[in-house]
Amino acid sequence: MYNYNKCYINGQWRDVTNGQELAVIQPSTAKVIGKISLSNEADVNLAVEAAKAAFVDFSQSSKQSRIELLERIICIYKDKSALMARHISDEMGAPISLATIAQTGSGLAHLEQALAALKDSPLMGEIGNSLLLREPVGVCALITPWNWPMNQIACKVAPALAAGCTMVLKPSEIAPFSGYLFAQILDEAGVPPGVFNLINGDGQGVGAPLSSHPDVDMVSFTGSTQAGIAVAKAAADTVKRVSQELGGKSANILLDDVNLEEAVTQGVIACMHNTGQSCNAPTRMLIPQQYYQKAINIAAKATNNIKVGPVDDEDTFIGPVVSQTQYDKIQHMIQVGIDEGAELIAGGLGKPAGLGQGFFVKPTVFANVNNAMTIAREEIFGPVLVLIPYDTEQQAIDIANDSPYGLSGYVSSSDQQRALIVAKKLRTGMVHINGVGVDTAAPFGGYKQSGNGREWGQYGLEEFQEIKAIML
Ligand code: NAD
Repeated sequence: MYNYNKCYINGQWRDVTNGQELAVIQPSTAKVIGKISLSNEADVNLAVEAAKAAFVDFSQSSKQSRIELLERIICIYKDKSALMARHISDEMGAPISLATIAQTGSGLAHLEQALAALKDSPLMGEIGNSLLLREPVGVCALITPWNWPMNQIACKVAPALAAGCTMVLKPSEIAPFSGYLFAQILDEAGVPPGVFNLINGDGQGVGAPLSSHPDVDMVSFTGSTQAGIAVAKAAADTVKRVSQELGGKSANILLDDVNLEEAVTQGVIACMHNTGQSCNAPTRMLIPQQYYQKAINIAAKATNNIKVGPVDDEDTFIGPVVSQTQYDKIQHMIQVGIDEGAELIAGGLGKPAGLGQGFFVKPTVFANVNNAMTIAREEIFGPVLVLIPYDTEQQAIDIANDSPYGLSGYVSSSDQQRALIVAKKLRTGMVHINGVGVDTAAPFGGYKQSGNGREWGQYGLEEFQEIKAIML
């Protein structure tokens, strides 16, 4: 049982003010696995005050001292990576292999990218007759979701530290354990008091007061589009910088020269990875009309081969979804798909055989889908794929772009140049050609309602910097 009931403010683990306890549910068993205490506005004020006071010195700290700090954090993070994977698996249900390699590994990758970006970053430059300085933006509120918890925490905390910012982190209350362990790592690494503060709480109790706090200079938010809009509105009165990484409904265009078996199978696996709980998952597969029936058969076979199982089995590919709420939402969306006339070709309602206890969902694929259907427009955030036929390449591009979201796109073709021409026409922040995965050195972020700003690597560091011109 995890008993993580403190907040971390000004370098001290403290009792929360009037804290209510929140039970945290283990997705694979649907049982309580631990608890946290929910902070409120009083703790937000204390944490922001500590961050504001610490900014005076930390903003002036040398680049070399911040390099050494990140190196110490990386060292301790590596030592604790098995424990971190356990925390992530317990809190959000990732199979242990995924929790170890991709989930915990992505946190390490962002720490290393921020370190490399800081080493390479020219903190000073010249333009015209002026000196340019890259300075830390100030006190930052970092608000994160549960689906890739350490990925999202590290890709905010590491560049914020690298830039010389001070911060208050509010992890998702649904998956709060990894963030708590991360705070312990930062404490052990000797992050100066007040530079990093951790508060657990929900959106209303902690996220909202952080977003509107007059002494917070920037909010970096990752989560749903709905909450991202609320954060931006709350931040508007004090003209904060707001960076938003929000939802997605990414299209996966298979051009008519692909190896169909390979591309469809890869697309199914990419959609179902992390039990479909990735903002950039390729959830709409666009298939040339002439290959549609063949693709349906391949997709059904690939989906039925996916191993859904206990999180501690090394060969489990997908575990449960995170919560009863998400389970219910996914079941509802599957029912909506059926009601709107889409054809189930794999999976469907209910739990997979033998997995009645946790929040397990059947990997599900719908055919006979058009892009106006609810299941093609709304983010489901579960292992649900829709197959949409198209007649011409231009129509495929139009369907891909016909979405309020614009996070990622996927294009497969045996001709890379042809795929690149299509990639340039997609209104998305990222495009993956022929199934190539994410690149932690490249900027991550979306167009349209998928957000504002870019995280990861050099671009992630720049998000936490202001530019000052000194005219000489
Ligand atoms: P969520 O929006 O419910 O919660 C995210 C965080 O925001 C949590 O810490 C929550 O407590 C907080 N929050 C909620 N309401 C708030 C408010 N009014 N003010 C301030 N904070 C508030 O999202 P979730 O369910 O945790 O995560 C899933 C969503 O995150 C999906 O929509 C997914 O697409 C998105 N996501 C986006 C990216 C990206 O980089 N684009 C990455 C991962 C997840």
